[in-house]
Amino acid sequence: MECQEAERLVMPYIQDELPTPVLEEFLEHIQVCPQCQEELEIYFTVAEGLRHLEEETGSYNIRGEMERVLEASRQRVQLARLVKIIYYAVNTLASLGLFVTFLLQLRIWHTGG
Ligand SMILES: [Zn+2]
Repeated sequence: MECQEAERLVMPYIQDELPTPVLEEFLEHIQVCPQCQEELEIYFTVAEGLRHLEEETGSYNIRGEMERVLEASRQRVQLARLVKIIYYAVNTLASLGLFVTFLLQLRIWHTGG
């Protein structure tokens, strides 16, 4: 992912609007790109600041909060990946089952005929 695209996705990310595949690429970019990470931090600080303005939490830890949100996003991506693997495994097993059934059927035809 290019910086330009990552920057464009910062706001949708904060608003939790990114679909998981995009989220995954976004997180990967954020992890390796200090500029975009800083960009995210700025937007995040502003967004969170606005959100907590009324709550008046003076010692609010913005950095820790961002880490927490990033971690939650990573977990979401990992979960989606896990679901995909399981889906793939189940599909593969199902195909394998069909294949074995087909082989058995062939054998029955072969020995029968
Ligand atoms: Zn970047």
